[in-house]
This record gives sequence, C-alpha cells and structure tokens, in this order.
Amino acid sequence: MKKIVVLMVFVLCCVIATACNNAEKANTAKESDTPTNKEKQESVEQKQNNQNERINEKGDSDKIEIKNSNKKMEKVEAKYKVSDVWSIVPIDDQTNEKVALITIDDAPDKYALEMAHTLKRLHVNAIFFVNGHLLETPEKKDMLKQIYDMGFIIGNHTYSHAYLPDLSEEKQKEEIVRVNDMVEKVIGERPKFFRAPNGANTDYTRQVAKDEDMTLMNWSYGYDWHKEYMSKEALTNIMLNTNLLGSGANLLMHDREWTAAALEDIVNGLRDKGYELVNPKLIQTAN
Ligand SMILES: [Zn+2]
Repeated sequence: MKKIVVLMVFVLCCVIATACNNAEKANTAKESDTPTNKEKQESVEQKQNNQNERINEKGDSDKIEIKNSNKKMEKVEAKYKVSDVWSIVPIDDQTNEKVALITIDDAPDKYALEMAHTLKRLHVNAIFFVNGHLLETPEKKDMLKQIYDMGFIIGNHTYSHAYLPDLSEEKQKEEIVRVNDMVEKVIGERPKFFRAPNGANTDYTRQVAKDEDMTLMNWSYGYDWHKEYMSKEALTNIMLNTNLLGSGANLLMHDREWTAAALEDIVNGLRDKGYELVNPKLIQTAN
C-alpha cells in the first residue's frame, strides 16, 4: 500500500513537472517570438530612417541612388520648389542652390529609353514629360513603364502636343486629363507635373492642372529644336555655355537623336561646372 502511494505521488509529481515545463516552453516561445518580430520591424524602420537621413544629410541629390522601383507610397521630404520663372530653388538656406534639373519632353518617342539608361548610369534623375499620342501602342506603354520603373518622374505634356490657347475649354481639359488617365493605367499613379506645349497655358489649363493636383513647370532654357543645335557638339556646347545657365536652371531637352547623343557630355559638363543634378523627387508638388 505504501509503495502504491509513493508511486502515485511520484506519477503526480511527474505530470505536474511536465505541465510546468510545457508552460514554460510555451512562454519562452511566446517571448522569443515577440522580440524577434519587433526587432525585425525595428530593423526595417531603422533602415528606412537611415535612408531618409542619408537623403536629408547629403542634400546633394545627384548622389542619391535612384531606386529600382518607383513605389506609390514613397515620400521624400521636399527640399526645392519651382520658382515663378520655372527655376528650381531651395526651400531653406541649408540646401545647395547650385543645381540644375534635367527634363525630357515629347517622350516616349525613339530615344527616351536610351536617354533614361544614360541618365541612370550617370546617377541622374529627371522628369520625362510624355504625350498621350505617343502612348497608344503596347510597346510605348511598356517603354513608359520601364522608364518609370527605373525611378524617373513622369510628367504630363498633353495628349496631342496641341497649342492649348487655340482650343475650346472642353478640348483643353481633354488634352490634359486624358494623359493622366493613360499614365495612371500604365504606372499606377497620375503625373504630378504639367508642362504645356510651347509653355502656353491659359487660365483654364492652370485651373485644370490645379484640379488634377499637378504642379506647373515650364523651363529656363533649351536649344535642341533649333536647326543650328541639332548636333551632339553644338548642343553640348550651347547647353553648357549659354549665359542662361545659373543656379536652379531647368533644362529643357527632347526625345531626339542629337540630344540623346549629347546627354552624357551635358551632364558631365554641368558637374564639371559645379552643378548638382537635382533629383526631381525633392521638388515640392501639390500632393
Ligand atoms: Zn513638347
């Protein structure tokens, strides 16, 4: 009898001990899980913070690596704004004012993708202002997507490159909004910048751009549509040596053979003169 009691006590002790052990294991698992997840979360946040800090500290946006993908939620703190004369000016006095912006209009035609690759290789971001009539085929849509996925900014340059003041208000609106709809279908977001063909806005197009949350952007100078500058050498020379080049210069170029050929020399020449190629993601927009 005594033996049986001892055995029962022993068995009972074993059951309790196992239960305690299991409970402890469960707790340990719970505790070790929680910090691991939290740590993971913190490490992701830390990475993002570090990245933002790097962008903020440097202020030299041309050295910011253009990300491989343009993420919808990606939000970088604005450091620059578009001035009344379309130059790019710092928002605060800590930011480098000796910058130039590269913009490529009438895209994507024959050379936009090549130009995007050149700029990417040189670590320059830029705005590609696109026309809707150049986005009608699957090939062109794919080209737009590729340019966007390389990290470039897509701007609206109207559907047919029409001279807007000649059109009815209804047509003006269609020229603008249709492009935003097309671009959104391809890249998942609407353009944030609007550039009217010939820089010719009306009060009405300004209002449409505003309603579409787009920032207006003309340019400081450009030459590639003039016959005498339709060569790599002549265009490079005038783009770098015009007296219109100054801090904040907003450079207008096009999807053209000679411009594509001159692009690398223009970028290098600007850098040699001490200009930083501003990342358009750092420019304040309406949304
Ligand atoms: Zn144009």
